[in-house]
Amino acid sequence: MTVWVLGDQLTADVGPIQHTDHVLMIEAHGFADRLRYHPQKLLLLFSSMRHFRDSLRADGYEVTYITAETFGEGVQTYFTANPGDRLVLMEPPSHGAGDRLQHLVENCGGTLTRVENELFVTTHAMFDSWAGEHEEGRTYRQENWYRHVRRETGILMEDGEPIGGEWNYDDKNRETPPKEWSPPPVPTFSHDDITRSVHAFVSDRYPDSWGRVPSVEEPLQWPVTREQAVSLLDHVIDDRLEAFGPYQDAMLTDEWALSHSLLSAALNIGLLTAQEVVDRAAAAYQTGTAPIHSVEGFIRQIIGWREFMRHVYRRSMPELAQANQLSQTEPLPPLYWGGETEMQCLSEAVNHVYDRGYAHHIERLMVLSNFALMYGVTPQALNEWFHLGFVDAYHWVTTPNVIGMGSFGSDVLSSKPYASSGNYINKMSDHCKSCPYAISKTTGENACPFNALYWDFLKTNEETLRGTGRMGLMYAHVDKKDDTEWAAIRSRVDEIRSLAQEGEL
Ligand code: SF4
Repeated sequence: MTVWVLGDQLTADVGPIQHTDHVLMIEAHGFADRLRYHPQKLLLLFSSMRHFRDSLRADGYEVTYITAETFGEGVQTYFTANPGDRLVLMEPPSHGAGDRLQHLVENCGGTLTRVENELFVTTHAMFDSWAGEHEEGRTYRQENWYRHVRRETGILMEDGEPIGGEWNYDDKNRETPPKEWSPPPVPTFSHDDITRSVHAFVSDRYPDSWGRVPSVEEPLQWPVTREQAVSLLDHVIDDRLEAFGPYQDAMLTDEWALSHSLLSAALNIGLLTAQEVVDRAAAAYQTGTAPIHSVEGFIRQIIGWREFMRHVYRRSMPELAQANQLSQTEPLPPLYWGGETEMQCLSEAVNHVYDRGYAHHIERLMVLSNFALMYGVTPQALNEWFHLGFVDAYHWVTTPNVIGMGSFGSDVLSSKPYASSGNYINKMSDHCKSCPYAISKTTGENACPFNALYWDFLKTNEETLRGTGRMGLMYAHVDKKDDTEWAAIRSRVDEIRSLAQEGEL
């Protein structure tokens, strides 16, 4: 038996690789010609694969490592040398990937057995039995799923009850840091011959990629080996987790990382398993290293959101990828592609993505997605931008988060859109203080663009939104505005659109 290890399954700690010493890896390059993937994402992916290959060989595995333009070519090369071989693969989470790979293998005369992907805490069967067939097509409730997983796994549970007495400590997790607070230094990782060679390859092969190409002398931002990923996890548990909870929704100028864990890049390619990350966080509570509200909030991101997204995506594809229930039509304005903008919040968030392929979850949802949603960008254009721009982005990750949640292209994840005026950003950040736009103004010169876009968004989508979810309060405010106010809002929105299209917002 040979285990086929994909680039997002770089672990020897779980799965069928534990029962064989023959491994196949295919490093395909052609996919990255089709989208302008962030160079740091490609560096992370190819370098991690090559490091994993070498660590397996050092541990005695026999690894066939093929570089090819496509998986099809790679599979053909493999079966020419190993006719009729039987491959085993952990099920890839992105829609249709398993079927496509199976087809390629069978076309070359081999067999492919797909097994549970043990990089995740929960299984398909667990979610499907929770959701039940009757829930197909309706909105799934994340909070219900989260509690179910806690009960089933015993994570942060004691005598059948949540530790600390509450399922959720969000009310303690919405603080902004005091002036004297500074986040822990962000760890970086050193280059070796492999990363230097992949760096040269990526720079040469993908000159049109979108994102900053770091100098080869500059330390790596993202771990590319198991050892580096574990050292990052150690640092997170010891130095970041405690403040993660209270400041997880905050945004500060010139602070891209705050107390966020920065583990998603390593987690999403298998350098860490979800179970070990959850176990380490739960142990940090037991030993008193971090308080319950931080630990609970952190674990909810993984077993609540991350696992939930994977399952909802699986059950909602392929329709979810094309969903656009608000009939949005706009392309992404140039500022998302590095164009200048005076908007302090958007400028910070876009630059974070450009510089490192990363922005934290509130920047993703309440700045980058919120603006695109209210501006009218199609969910698909925004999804593609997230997919190519973020080091931790894969189709199964971005599609539910961006199309379902950020763009409200579908109501499968939420009964109301995450649309907000500038007030939320003002409350959770220090950006508005240094922004040339006036947060207190909705219309007229220099009014914060989020404000007029918000009211216009509610008005434009009234037919779809008025009766849904918890929108009653918002529409009570909509109903109070008179014709003069609406005319001023429309005029400001027209102005915002034309400035954005000209790259002058
Ligand atoms: S004033 Fe508006 S555009 Fe400026 S930082 Fe605040 S929310 Fe963003």
